[in-house]
Amino acid sequence: MIPRLKPCLGWEEFLALIMPSRKNEVERFEKSFAELAGQKYAVAFPYGRTALIILLKAMGFKNSEVICPAYTCVVVPHAIVYSGNKPVFVDSQEYDFNMDLTRVPEAINEKTAALIPTSVFGYPVNLDQLDRIREKYPGLFIIQDCCHSFFAEWKCKPVHKAGDAALFSFNISKMITSIFGGMVTTDRDDVYERLVETYEESLNKPTWKKALMRRLYLTAVYPAFTEIGYGFVNLLERKGVLGGLVDYYDEAKIDMPEDYLVGITKVEAKVGQAQAQRYYKIVENRRESARYYDEHLKDIPGLKLPPLVEGATYSHYVPRVSNRKAIMGQALKRGAQLGQIIEYCVPVMEAYKDRLVSSCDYPVSSRMAQETINLPIWVDKKIAKQIGKILSDHN
Ligand SMILES: *Cc1c(COP(=O)(O)O)cnc(C)c1O
Repeated sequence: MIPRLKPCLGWEEFLALIMPSRKNEVERFEKSFAELAGQKYAVAFPYGRTALIILLKAMGFKNSEVICPAYTCVVVPHAIVYSGNKPVFVDSQEYDFNMDLTRVPEAINEKTAALIPTSVFGYPVNLDQLDRIREKYPGLFIIQDCCHSFFAEWKCKPVHKAGDAALFSFNISKMITSIFGGMVTTDRDDVYERLVETYEESLNKPTWKKALMRRLYLTAVYPAFTEIGYGFVNLLERKGVLGGLVDYYDEAKIDMPEDYLVGITKVEAKVGQAQAQRYYKIVENRRESARYYDEHLKDIPGLKLPPLVEGATYSHYVPRVSNRKAIMGQALKRGAQLGQIIEYCVPVMEAYKDRLVSSCDYPVSSRMAQETINLPIWVDKKIAKQIGKILSDHN
């Protein structure tokens, strides 16, 4: 079985799991991540979505509008709602899956507080276009959502620094993982101070029970991502046993995990530190896989390949097809698990369609939601060839 997802977990992560944690693991994680990001401050959270809620609250935004992509992870608008604000959605551009920044001015009014440009699938946000928006609206608070992209660059400029703060997630499906966990980075002293203050007011310390549960979860997950383990996990997934791990949202509900206001645990922070050390190697590997796919899949009819973009980090490699379900089924029979990723356009979801600030169409995002197919991106050449064969046989 070729799994779609394969976190890069090694000996260091295993040690983090079995050895006792030091007192200041969370501070160490924050410090090492800030260094990796080349930024002044980093604050760790139990989830990326919690990080966003607390950041919006910390900035004092209330009953305001926050602009985000229509094509993004659904937890982003959920977090905006939980922070007491309203999400306003902007459609995507065809080329690289990102929000069409040229349409942002139409969405801005006197209630707008923040903009969340997002480097979807690791494609860097167009910073030239963003600069024009920032010049025109200097008061707009910019949060770079780097949960997919981490340190992607637009024309050699790191996207995560092009704003007031940046958001990261370390859940198990991200480029580097601490199993769960999120982070905000910033260079602004005032943002950092407000963030820490709101954190203290809003979050509880993890209990020993949560710490134990996370250790057990990690212990269970760890072998699952080895070669043999994955076949088993995949079996459970197909049988619907792992509901919680795979289906992370409910079409009709805006909700949060039960422990979203309980701090990140030391063991997660320790795994996160080990993962941060692997970041550059992981990205290099993904770029190689993307180039390899690009070269070997380009002649397959019916498959529209995603672009190769300088500075992109390819958290996902997502061709577009018209018959996604059939291809996924075929591939699974032949031993490859292809995924669907962001298979929804948020503003047309049950939970959001009655909450829209303005009525507006999202044709590009809606089409992407139907057509994207997610190939394994951790692959070596042999596996890429196999996937190529499955896809070309299908067409
Ligand atoms: C994963 C993700 C998040 C945050 O996810 P959490 O599971 O809450 O850590 C935010 N934005 C995007 C685009 C994501 O993919």
